Amino acid sequence: MWSYQHTNFLVHQIPALSDNYIFLIQDYHSDVVCVVDPAVAEDVKVACEKLNIKPTHILNTHHHWDHTDGNEELIQMYDCEVVANADDAPRIRGISMPIPANGSLKLGSLNIQTLDVPGHTLGHIAFVIDDALFCGDTLFGGGCGRLFEGSFEQMWSSLQKLADLDEKISVYCAHEYTLPNLRFARDMDADNDVLIKRISDDTQTRMKKQPTIPSTMALELQTNPFLRPLNQAFIQTYNKQNNENFNAFQVFQDLRKRKNTW
Ligand SMILES: [Zn+2]
Repeated sequence: MWSYQHTNFLVHQIPALSDNYIFLIQDYHSDVVCVVDPAVAEDVKVACEKLNIKPTHILNTHHHWDHTDGNEELIQMYDCEVVANADDAPRIRGISMPIPANGSLKLGSLNIQTLDVPGHTLGHIAFVIDDALFCGDTLFGGGCGRLFEGSFEQMWSSLQKLADLDEKISVYCAHEYTLPNLRFARDMDADNDVLIKRISDDTQTRMKKQPTIPSTMALELQTNPFLRPLNQAFIQTYNKQNNENFNAFQVFQDLRKRKNTW
């Protein structure tokens, strides 16, 4: 487990299954403890006992089993509330606090903003708390989620919403996929010095068995191939290399299709 200090809360990062991360958000000013996407209840329980805290709320970004499997057991153990997208309520186990996909709520002293980010699934939402983004399977370190339900247009629009957040925001995504993602990125963006440095840094991090997550939006904007189409120079280079005349969305779409078979 790893812990990160923010001004108003701590984030504890728990590795689960083969590459999932579960996050605990511990409010400094109240007893509120939010569990983001509990893949496995037992891992949350062990971490909470170590920290001597009790989950009060579960925040689900989307309905996939590796984000919600722990819900019911945690409700039984801690009587916690399940906060998730009202539009996706039938698919979220144990949901007790349905909320709007775009909205805000206050838990303890935590000011939580929700963002509607369909693409990976249609009901996918992200949570923003101050300078921390919990984006589930929408944006990854060096990548983005597969389009299981949404369209390319929806995912592109969702990624732009996230890209519009403050550059300094910490990106807490739900999987450790960064290194394989960056190998694809290097093939698509070979002359990017920031990307080459990130690959070197993150490779060392993984050799030490440390997480590459959280990253920052600034780093994602500079190195994530699915955000790079926001950069005009990248579009020009991409078009020249591929003999195309794509706009930003079309470059994103082309990259997402290529990644599926890469
Ligand atoms: Zn998923």
